[in-house]
Amino acid sequence: MVRKLGVYAVLAFVLYGLFFYWYLFHFADPKLPFEFQGTKADPATFLNGRELMLSEEYSEIRNLLFFLAEPFEWLVYFLILIFGLSNVFKRWAEDSTKYKLLHTPIYLFWLSLAAYIATLPLSYISYSLSKTYHISTQTFPSWMKDELIDFWINYGTWLVIVPVLYWLMKKSTKRWWFYGWLLSVPFTLFMMFLQPVIIDPLYNDFYPLKNKELEAKILQLADKADIPAQHVFEVDMAEKTNALNAYVTGIGSNARIVLWDTTLNRLTDEQILLIMAHEMCHYVEKHIYWGIGGYLLLSLLGLYLTYRIMNWVQNRLGKEWKTVKVGDIRSLPLFFMIVSILLFAASPLVNLASRYQETRADRYAIEMTKNPEAAITSFQELAKSGLTQVHPPLLVKIFRYTHPTMLERISMLEQYEIEHRQD
Ligand SMILES: [Zn+2]
Repeated sequence: MVRKLGVYAVLAFVLYGLFFYWYLFHFADPKLPFEFQGTKADPATFLNGRELMLSEEYSEIRNLLFFLAEPFEWLVYFLILIFGLSNVFKRWAEDSTKYKLLHTPIYLFWLSLAAYIATLPLSYISYSLSKTYHISTQTFPSWMKDELIDFWINYGTWLVIVPVLYWLMKKSTKRWWFYGWLLSVPFTLFMMFLQPVIIDPLYNDFYPLKNKELEAKILQLADKADIPAQHVFEVDMAEKTNALNAYVTGIGSNARIVLWDTTLNRLTDEQILLIMAHEMCHYVEKHIYWGIGGYLLLSLLGLYLTYRIMNWVQNRLGKEWKTVKVGDIRSLPLFFMIVSILLFAASPLVNLASRYQETRADRYAIEMTKNPEAAITSFQELAKSGLTQVHPPLLVKIFRYTHPTMLERISMLEQYEIEHRQD
């Protein structure tokens, strides 16, 4: 029975992978709709033949890796569960010390390590692909260091959550999901508050803008939107990537706008101001808080569904498998698997909300700077530097795109340009 289930799961994963291979490489048509051909959104007008080919090729492989990564993780947890590895980890934890308090941390360590090692090859493929296409400039030791930081932050976070969660499951078999959610509210806010000052600096260096002339222009713009100067930062990314980016992060007194140094190095001042104005919209309209609110609502639903599904699995299979008993730490792979599936299922909705905010930020930026030419060229540069697909296949857009596609973003600007030329 166990072996059969394992074979079915692997088979399902292979079929799923083949479907996406077919969808991305054969079915999806990278051609732009006719009405966009030859416009400024058409990559053929701003990429050379080689860049065009590379961006198509690179995006196709990246998209495939994206669709494989998460289901692969589900498969790993499923196999850990059905082949009794979860039992083994628990036994290792119990054999290694008589202090009961340490059993869960040790179990969690082995489980995290197993999942990490199983998914490491995919991460490495993704890194080396990005290196091959000259997007990533990161050395292997530096990449590995980031990976290890990832591992420990993940482990540390779950180390706080899991013991509490499993304690709640034992205390209240009917309401653990709700109490868990209540506790997750302050925890989430606390993590969001610490993110820019504790977690992000583990990966990169942050400092005030280096170019003082540019800083003056940026702060002038920030002033227009009532953003205090000490909330604008530059981050050292050139040693890791050729891509361009900027973002808003943190809450409360730690809220900040961060510009990658690659963006500052490679764009003109006008283009940078456009990017800055876009980020300012996120800041001013408090998109982070909307994001946190939406996330908390979804996680309430998600935890309830997890509770229902875990109970269902326990009732169906609990007799045969002690490892799916709710409240028994050995069911943790099941919990991780369900949460990961639900997150993936919710991603189209989350991305849709994000694309809505991003569209607003683009509009805000162009109305603030009133310079469509700089805006269009900066988006073209953005697409070029990251070999971004201007017009991705529909499923890619739905599951992967937190921003409108470059086709949509540049067309909007062209529209703006046309409208404002007339008056
Ligand atoms: Zn944005």
